Amino acid sequence: MAMKTAPGNGCPVYKKCGGCQLQNMTYEEQLHHKQVKVIRLLGKFGRVNQILGMDVPLHYRCKVQAAFGRDRGQIVSGVYQSSTHKIVPIDSCMIEDEAADAIIVTIRKLAKSFKIKPFDDVSMTGFLRHVLVRKGYYTGQIMVVLVTGSEPFPSCRSFINALVGRHPEITTIVQNINGKFTSLVLGEKNIVRYGQGYIEDSILDCTFRISPKSFYQVNPQMTTVLYGKALEFMALTGAETVIDAYCGTGTIGLLAARKAKRVIGVELNPDAVRDAKWNARRNGIENAEFFPGDAGEFMTEMAAAGEQADVVIMDPPRAGSDRRFLDSLATLAPKRIVYVSCNPETLARDLKHLLLKGYRVNRIQPVDMFPHTEHVESVVCLTRK
Ligand code: SAH
Repeated sequence: MAMKTAPGNGCPVYKKCGGCQLQNMTYEEQLHHKQVKVIRLLGKFGRVNQILGMDVPLHYRCKVQAAFGRDRGQIVSGVYQSSTHKIVPIDSCMIEDEAADAIIVTIRKLAKSFKIKPFDDVSMTGFLRHVLVRKGYYTGQIMVVLVTGSEPFPSCRSFINALVGRHPEITTIVQNINGKFTSLVLGEKNIVRYGQGYIEDSILDCTFRISPKSFYQVNPQMTTVLYGKALEFMALTGAETVIDAYCGTGTIGLLAARKAKRVIGVELNPDAVRDAKWNARRNGIENAEFFPGDAGEFMTEMAAAGEQADVVIMDPPRAGSDRRFLDSLATLAPKRIVYVSCNPETLARDLKHLLLKGYRVNRIQPVDMFPHTEHVESVVCLTRK
């Protein structure tokens, strides 16, 4: 049963934060709104299945970020008010993991007693800039990343001890240094201050490593639903060669490897490729290989070398795929393409191109990965005519 949430939902920072654009609707209304949006954009390609939503659409975000700053002498933590440098103070949020929110509040209190200065990104002085908390939903492991403007961490040991003393559920703490003038949260350098420096989480029958920077879906409960649908649409029998394009840390490809002959993953970010290889070993999977590079270029080379693929699963970023990728995909001519997309607009554009290349759309499944926000994820299955 989908849960109802009251209109406006009583969030005190609904307008200022801007994160939950659909909060003035009940959850049923939100699901309907997303269904209509996907039908409007993708309905011309085929029947759109009923959107899959959450039973309890609350506290689903297992990745929580807070900016630290100062307001009238006091340390504050929360989110930047859109297009400003003003921090909207937040102690708890209806979509964020509750343990993560509690840890951020404790860090703010400890910062005050340890006389740790928040970073000021106008004068570029001070120390604590952001806190990022990531939690493994199925493992319960928690990583805290303290993003600081500079490296020397006064009273580091006692600060870490005090934090872990209050939150023994924390399994690792990393200091990340970001002294640059940038809107990116994380800088280049990480120093592990407590534990292993990463956490693990499980999806279906695989376990994955999550490092401070690695891409990992923020809603683990619905990720299981999304990946489950992607696997169902791949319809693997054990004989297939599968390409996992835009593979990130190899999550979908490794789940597919258990049901296929061979998996080849390609991903632009070399750190994610390293994690994907590590995840393969961690799960004892020997029939999956991962390569760094542009997915389009990689597939063009594969097509030129006369290599074959039976199934391609693709999960590009919001901008969607590009001509080169889609053309090389058509040349490789897999029997089946499963397209996972977080943006139905670019998905519609790419599907139109694949239709011209001799594919037909079989199934369209929207999934509500981000309740209360306007975002909607879709999985589409295409087969060669
Ligand atoms: N399938 C993964 C990751 C999806 S996010 C998962 O579900 O976890 C999209 C990924 O595409 C990111 O990891 C990003 O680094 C990667 N990417 C972006 N542009 C790319 C390109 N041109 N070629 C290959 N990978 C790309």
